[in-house]
Amino acid sequence: MPTTTPTASGRLLQALHAGGPMSRAEATAAAHLARSAAGAAAEELRTLGLLEINESRAEAGRLGRPSPGLSLRPGSATVVAGALHPDAVELAIVDLNRTIMHRETIDLAIPALPPDQAIPAVARHLNALLGSSAAAKCTAIGISLPGMIGDSDGIARAVLPLAWREVPVGELLAARLRTNLPIYLGHDATFGALAEFRAGAGRGAHRMLFLTSQQVGVGSALITSAHLGGHLGHTLQAGHLIVDPTGPACSCGSHGCLELFVDGRAIAAALRLPPTTSAAELHRALQSGILEDRPARPLAEVLDALSVGLISLVNTLGPDRVVLAGLLAPLARAWRRQLEEALGRSVVAQVEPVSLRVATLDDAVLLGVAERAFTPLMHDPVRTLSQG
Ligand SMILES: [Zn+2]
Repeated sequence: MPTTTPTASGRLLQALHAGGPMSRAEATAAAHLARSAAGAAAEELRTLGLLEINESRAEAGRLGRPSPGLSLRPGSATVVAGALHPDAVELAIVDLNRTIMHRETIDLAIPALPPDQAIPAVARHLNALLGSSAAAKCTAIGISLPGMIGDSDGIARAVLPLAWREVPVGELLAARLRTNLPIYLGHDATFGALAEFRAGAGRGAHRMLFLTSQQVGVGSALITSAHLGGHLGHTLQAGHLIVDPTGPACSCGSHGCLELFVDGRAIAAALRLPPTTSAAELHRALQSGILEDRPARPLAEVLDALSVGLISLVNTLGPDRVVLAGLLAPLARAWRRQLEEALGRSVVAQVEPVSLRVATLDDAVLLGVAERAFTPLMHDPVRTLSQG
């Protein structure tokens, strides 16, 4: 992670990546650059092939010389974004405009293999993609894991869905990848949160609490505007917030953790569906109008646990926005009024308003991985592309 400030062309690139096509005057202001520095940075980005400058862009109703329009050239620089799941590896190529230009899903039962076989298998698929013409403009690689991994050492601490504990994923991958490109690894919930914060339901928030319910467990992250420069948010373990100390035992050793009431297994049980019901099937069930405004038990317990959990999290973390994703998204749509009432019981929310939003991105994790992998390019495009 670079500690210096981004170059002028890096700042201009960040402004266009964040805001989309805009006039040079708008981009200059968004990048906090002097006019001459912005002009030089735009020329640099054009020389690198990243920027299209439309000199004829006229601004209606404006007197004087129109400011040229700037836009990032589609496909001019990309990253490989990967997501490891228990049953599959998802690989994508994402460009600077957050367009997914290529994607593939490879069936791979990762937990069934020892890590020293599973990781080389992942590396083989990555090498095949990196060697293809689709990855010609690739500047970095990012990969998400469904669990905690050290941001600096690349060691998967406890990635339970993959059955990985203390696995040096970064080292094992780097040894087998036929590339010198930087590799970024991280927790899928943090990546999903990052994408929602920058390009989805978290846009404009100062301090966003992100909660996503998965088949097993609840992912969470807190992202503040200080993270806009490429740093990841804080990984939380909000799924293990205790909402009922007399509740059932959790794998973490406590009793009555939030995720025991609101993850896919709990929602399946509340809907009286088999525990093996997939997340996709649960999504369909939850969107079919099954959720009543005043749910009876046991669905009422899902709503109660989510409400209690939200009040405690808002009181302790003080977000100005809460974004609910995964299986919590259909719950938030159906029970918005009840959840907003619950937020109103938070003493923090009574002082500073907290808005509740449903996640908006279909591919939040892959897009968040790409955000992370674009970090070196956004910091210093000239240096990053001269190394390629
Ligand atoms: Zn727990």
